[in-house]
Amino acid sequence: MGVLTALAILAGLIVVHEAGHFFAATWQGIRVSSFSIGFGPVLLERQRRGVQFALRAIPLGGFVAFPDDDEDSEIPKTDPNLLSNRPLPQRALVIAAGVLANLLLAWLVLLAQGVVVGIPDGFSATPGVLVSGVQAGQPAALAGLQPGDRIVSLAGEPIAGGQEAVAALVTAVKSSPEQPLTLVAERGQRQLTLELVPADVGGTGRIGAQLQPFGSEAFRPARGPLEPIRQANSDFSALLSRTAGGFFTLITHFGETAGQVSGPVKIVEMGASLAQQGGGSLFLFTALISINLAVLNALPLPLLDGGQFVLLLLEGLRGRPLPEKFQMAFMQSGFVFLVGLSVVLIVKDTSPAGGAATAEPLVPRFPSARQRTPLILERLGELYPHATCSLDWRNPYELLIATMLSAQCTDERVNQITPALFERFPDAAAAAAVEPADVEPYVKSAGFFRNKAKNIVASSRLLMERHGGTVPRTMEELLELPGVARKTASVVLAWCFGINAGVTVDTHVSRLAQRLRLTRKSEPRQIEPDLMKLVPQADWQTLSIRLIFHGRAVCTARKPNCPGCPIADLCPMGGTPTR
Ligand code: SF4
Repeated sequence: MGVLTALAILAGLIVVHEAGHFFAATWQGIRVSSFSIGFGPVLLERQRRGVQFALRAIPLGGFVAFPDDDEDSEIPKTDPNLLSNRPLPQRALVIAAGVLANLLLAWLVLLAQGVVVGIPDGFSATPGVLVSGVQAGQPAALAGLQPGDRIVSLAGEPIAGGQEAVAALVTAVKSSPEQPLTLVAERGQRQLTLELVPADVGGTGRIGAQLQPFGSEAFRPARGPLEPIRQANSDFSALLSRTAGGFFTLITHFGETAGQVSGPVKIVEMGASLAQQGGGSLFLFTALISINLAVLNALPLPLLDGGQFVLLLLEGLRGRPLPEKFQMAFMQSGFVFLVGLSVVLIVKDTSPAGGAATAEPLVPRFPSARQRTPLILERLGELYPHATCSLDWRNPYELLIATMLSAQCTDERVNQITPALFERFPDAAAAAAVEPADVEPYVKSAGFFRNKAKNIVASSRLLMERHGGTVPRTMEELLELPGVARKTASVVLAWCFGINAGVTVDTHVSRLAQRLRLTRKSEPRQIEPDLMKLVPQADWQTLSIRLIFHGRAVCTARKPNCPGCPIADLCPMGGTPTR
C-alpha cells in the first residue's frame, strides 16, 4: 500500500510537471502532438483534438511532444502555431511552465498541510533514540545498525525519550572507547540485540552514527486563515533554498556528497515508509519531491528544461537559432547522460552495499536546528574547551570600554590599545574628568576613534552620575550608556556578572548561525531571538563564544574549511549527518 501511494505521488508530480508545459503551450495556441507519462512503448493511449495522451512502459518521467519534432507531420513548417515559429518569450514560457507548475504544487501542498494537518508545534518525543544516519565502515555500521533503527535499550536498561535520551546515549558512547556496549534496536517488527564497540578517538568513544530523538512532529490548529499561508511561505522558501543548496553542494563537492544521492527506487522506498506513518509526513514528502523535480529540471543540462533554456538564451544572444547539428548533439549527449545516471542510481539503490547504507533523499534530511544546536554546542565545547572572551580586562569597567572599542575592530587590536588607555584612565572617574580629545590619542587605531572617545567619556560621566562609578548589572541600565548596544551589554553581563541576558551576535555568530541554518534571518537583532530559542538560557553566552572560536578557526568569512570541519556532519553545508 505504501509503495503504491509513493508511486502514485511520483506519477502525479510528473503529470503536474508535464501539464505545466502542456497548458502553457495550448493556452498560447501552440500546437501539441502528444502528452505522455513515461517513456518507451505505449501501454494506453487516447486521441483528443489531435493530441495523443499516452501512458508508456518505462515510468521514469514523461514528456510533451510538439509537431515540430515529427518528421512525418503534415503540418507545414511555416505554420505560425508551431512552437519553433513562436517568439522567444512564448517558447521560454512553455519551457519554464513545468518547473513553475512543480513549485506551485509544492506551495499548495504545504498550504494544504497547514489547513488539514495543522501548524508544526514542536516535537513530541516517544521512548527510544532514532538512528538517522550511519557512516560506512564505522563501529555503528559494523555492529549492524541501520538508518531508521530505534535504539530502545542500552546494557539492559530501557532508554527514555527526547533530547535527554540522546545525550545519555552519547555520554555512554563517549565514555566507552574500545569497550563493548550491548544495545537492543527495533527495526520494523523485529528486535535486534547488537554489540557495539565505540572507536577510540583521542580517548573518546565514537560510533559514526547520527542519533536523534524518536518521535514525531506535533501539530496544532492554525490560528486564523493567514497562518497556514505564512507557514507555507516559510516552509516553501526553506525547502527550496535547502534543495538548491543541496544540488549546489553536490556539484561543488561531488566526491564527498555523491554517495548521498538516491535514485527513484530509494525515493519510492522512503515515500512508502512515510505513507505507512500517516498523512502528515506525506505532505512534506510530496512538497519536497516536487521541489526536487523543479530544481533538477532547472539545471542547465541537455534534455532538461534548464538545458532548453540555455539553447533559447544562446539563440537570443545570437539573434538566430543555433545550427541544427549543434542542437542535436547537445540533446543526444543529454539523453546518454540521463539514461546512464538513471541506471547508476537504480543499481545503487537496489544493491545491498549501496542501498541499505545510504537511504537518503536527493537532499539529505537534516535534523532541525532545535535538535542540532545542543549537539553543535557540545561538539564545539570539545573542540574549544578553553574558549573565553578574547579581550584583556581586569574589572567590569575595563571590559565595558574594551567591548565598546571592539566594534569594527579586532580584539587583538583592542588588546594592543587598552594597556596604555587603562593606565591613563583606570576607572570611570578618570575618564569622566577629561574631554574626548584627551582620550582620542589613546584609541586612534581602533577605527571611528572620535566617536569611540566621545562615548567613553560620556559613558564614564553617566556611570559617575548614576552608578557611583560602577558598571550596572542590568541590560536596561547598560543600554542607557552612550555607545553601548545590546551586544556590548550582553558581553559585560555574561563575563563580568555571569548573567545570560542574550546571545552576543557579532559578525562570526551571525555568519555561522546562517551557514548552520540555525536561523533564516540576516540581521543580528533578528538572529539573536532565534538563537535564544535553541539552547537553555544558561548556555547563551557559551553558544556565542564557541561559535566565535569556530568562526575564527574553521568557518572563516573568506573560505569555510568544510572538508576539514569537525561539525560538518551537523551543518547543511557540510555533508552527511553523522555522530
Ligand atoms: S561545514 Fe563549513 S559552513 Fe558548516 S560550520 Fe563547518 S566550515 Fe562552516
